[in-house]
Amino acid sequence: MKYRIIPVTAFQQNCSLLICERTGKAAVVDPGGDVDLILDAVKQEKAVLESVLLTHGHLDHIGGTYELASLFDIPIIGPHRDDQFWIDAIAAQCQTFGFPVCHEFTPTRWLAHGDKVSFGEEMLEVLHCPGHTPGHVVFYHRQSQLAIVGDVLFRGSIGRTDFPKGDFHTLISSIKNNLWPLGEQVAFIPGHGPMSTFGEEMRHNPYVGI
Ligand SMILES: [Zn+2]
Ligand SMILES: [Zn+2]
Repeated sequence: MKYRIIPVTAFQQNCSLLICERTGKAAVVDPGGDVDLILDAVKQEKAVLESVLLTHGHLDHIGGTYELASLFDIPIIGPHRDDQFWIDAIAAQCQTFGFPVCHEFTPTRWLAHGDKVSFGEEMLEVLHCPGHTPGHVVFYHRQSQLAIVGDVLFRGSIGRTDFPKGDFHTLISSIKNNLWPLGEQVAFIPGHGPMSTFGEEMRHNPYVGI
């Protein structure tokens, strides 16, 4: 599996383009906006988009979802249903953050812990990791030991927990119980900022170090 990170929106959210190298089929994770940049990347990679995957319902991760999904007529997969209240509030989120108004949408498929999502010949495992938002999910590609963690974990930090239905202790448990068991060699793409590995964060992240 090949991947490309495309920082989008004023929040420099890491939208990821995941490509199955055998088939050229691809999935976009968290298209927060700047859809033209995402389309450029898809074109450059000669990829065929199969689905939009969402880690959670925050605007900087979902803002370009409707546009992209309708352009290619592809399904919107994720997050967990507990984030529906965030997605339903997309218009209010646009207003709060000064984004242009986004079209409302409902995911084609909600995800639960242990689900699997595939595109081309690649398969991602779904881990429900609440705390930043209640319905946040992480996508894990076991073959390449790569996780796309959204706003659960960052290099040197963790996601905010002061939003509605956010909870600090729940977030810490999600990281320690769902992510750390995957192993310290696992590399991750966070929702914002540079990549890191779980081992690096176990050793140096002040919030979740062991
Ligand atoms: Zn977020
Ligand atoms: Zn974010």
